[in-house]
Amino acid sequence: MKQRCADNGINFEQCIQFTAVHEFGHVLGLSHEHNRDFSFNSCSLDDPARYNVKGNTSFTDYDPDSIMNYCRQNYYGDKSLSLMDKISVKAYYGRIPTFTDETSKLDIPRVMFQGNPYKATLQLGSDGKFTLISMAPTNNLPENQSSIETTFSNSILTLPLLRYMKNRKVMKLWKGTLRQGSDGKFYRINIDVHPDAKV
Ligand SMILES: [Zn+2]
Repeated sequence: MKQRCADNGINFEQCIQFTAVHEFGHVLGLSHEHNRDFSFNSCSLDDPARYNVKGNTSFTDYDPDSIMNYCRQNYYGDKSLSLMDKISVKAYYGRIPTFTDETSKLDIPRVMFQGNPYKATLQLGSDGKFTLISMAPTNNLPENQSSIETTFSNSILTLPLLRYMKNRKVMKLWKGTLRQGSDGKFYRINIDVHPDAKV
């Protein structure tokens, strides 16, 4: 490895740090970013006959800055994660709201309301509105914390990061806002692809 770092003209310590972060990306389930079916992708694919390298889901745009991308600028020399790397790990491992296609349920593991944490579930109806079907206090144990807080205040439910699951896979990352109407139902003000998931 020392040779590979030297061949690329990179400081050895930086190169070790980069490699550790990149390999931990694999440990967490991230595949190589350049392995996509994009015809415009100028970065070459790993040999698909030798490696099962495409992963099973692409839920962000192609990320030229990913630490998992061989064609990233200053590969070997930069250990930092891109915005998309960070949001990808949050999507997999964060306790964040999840909308499941099969059940049309929006599960929120933690939403702050009047200074206290709750867990809640909403059901999307055929009218396009969400109905609150359960809500219960939760506690502040570390395993119930979330790095990105969902809040409910002044009838507005703010979802800074929301994952859309189908067939038990993360398909999309969204950001959204719902408003509770006088009928108690929640109306979509906006739900859009999260800005950090696109270039
Ligand atoms: Zn790799």
